[in-house]
Amino acid sequence: MEKKIPYKIYLEESEIPKQWYNVRADMKNKPAPLLNPGTLEPMKAEELGGVFCEELVKQELDNDTAYIDIPEEIHDFYKMYRPSPTIRAYYLEKLLDTPAKIYYKFEGNNTSGSHKLNSAIAQAYYAKKQGLKGVTTETGAGQWGTALSMACSYFGLDCKVYMVKCSYEQKPFRREVMRTYGASVTPSPSMDTNIGRKINADHPGTTGSLGCAISEAVEVATSNDGYRYVLGSVLNQVLLHQSVIGLEAKAALDKYGVKPDIIIGCAGGGSNLGGLISPFMGEKLRGEADYRIIAVEPASCPSLTRGKYAYDFCDTGMVCPLAKMYTLGSNFIPSPNHAGGLRYHGMSSILSQLYDDGYMEATSVKQTEVFEAAEMFARVEGILPAPESSHAIRVAIDEALKCKETGEEKTILFGLTGTGYFDMVAYEKFHNGEMGDYIPTDDDLKASLDTLPKVDK
Ligand SMILES: *Cc1c(COP(=O)(O)O)cnc(C)c1O
Repeated sequence: MEKKIPYKIYLEESEIPKQWYNVRADMKNKPAPLLNPGTLEPMKAEELGGVFCEELVKQELDNDTAYIDIPEEIHDFYKMYRPSPTIRAYYLEKLLDTPAKIYYKFEGNNTSGSHKLNSAIAQAYYAKKQGLKGVTTETGAGQWGTALSMACSYFGLDCKVYMVKCSYEQKPFRREVMRTYGASVTPSPSMDTNIGRKINADHPGTTGSLGCAISEAVEVATSNDGYRYVLGSVLNQVLLHQSVIGLEAKAALDKYGVKPDIIIGCAGGGSNLGGLISPFMGEKLRGEADYRIIAVEPASCPSLTRGKYAYDFCDTGMVCPLAKMYTLGSNFIPSPNHAGGLRYHGMSSILSQLYDDGYMEATSVKQTEVFEAAEMFARVEGILPAPESSHAIRVAIDEALKCKETGEEKTILFGLTGTGYFDMVAYEKFHNGEMGDYIPTDDDLKASLDTLPKVDK
């Protein structure tokens, strides 16, 4: 007989994973290497070591080790907010009147309010271990900056955050959380860096973008002794750290003999989705099981569904290595009335390769539909979801409604990456009927895709 499944499946503290899982080890086609923007040759560890911490460079380049030990210091920090619950969405199922069984893995139960802390603490730990003074980074909506501030204060590291100017102005409370944890927060583009001054001169009055803020943070890291740059998504190392999400979710479902048919996650740079799916994808790659995996992106920033799979710059200033990924072009800036996060122009190289090889699907959703789903979810499940996470909710609901039509009892797992308390301006726009659904035209996309670097690889 099937065991009764509790509302929340909690693991024990002793069941927090002791190792991360590196899905690259099971990929036949490995993700393409980062290239030196000058020589167009694959970046060597020594070159990457000027920008990133040593141990993180090793993880970035390691395509072969399937399991990597989680150091005890990181594991101890994980105990403060992990294991995170895997929740059966009984109330949402009831509202939808669907035969589908819906589960979500909730990563918002920590002060930073998102899954980003899983990688922030790892990156801060390796910086500290290397004897660095501090780290620099960019933040868009602010979740990554918040997570990194918490992680740096835990290990006594200095933390300099370049925050996209429009978010800096619209989200003063995020900024103050970061300062509470001792970080310095500078609106980007600033006048403190060469690249910031250049961007301000070329685009007077610009409210910034992630690509600009990355360029500034990298410049500050490489021109100050004892500093390195850290990034909260996109990179292979970040997907590795985020594998704790999927490992825990799988362990929780395995306890009750539950196998998801469909796994859904929102995709900005790809870190939460990559983390959630990794152990399931591992089984799929090894031919042990099959899952339908869906990446959900905003229609206003559709890198997988409408971008090109090509080498591109990761930042506007073109100081970072080139990455091969599904991209809209590093000059692409989503419409200013796009409020739902997930606004990076490119996608993780790992996910890009898996998508290109047909191991996962991608779909895009409009932001008003996303907020409708967010509100529906908040009212029955209690949790106020982040707009980013609500992209996954939207598609989970749509798949559950399809089951209602066909009568199929599919099991759906989605990632609920965080909470939306700092996104109430976006919710307000939605409630006031002021939210639009601007979708870039083919001409808009062509303009930025035409500026992709010419790389023959
Ligand atoms: C940053 C963030 C995302 C998107 O980033 P990925 O790297 O694609 O996971 C999604 N949800 C929340 C709550 C975030 O903070």
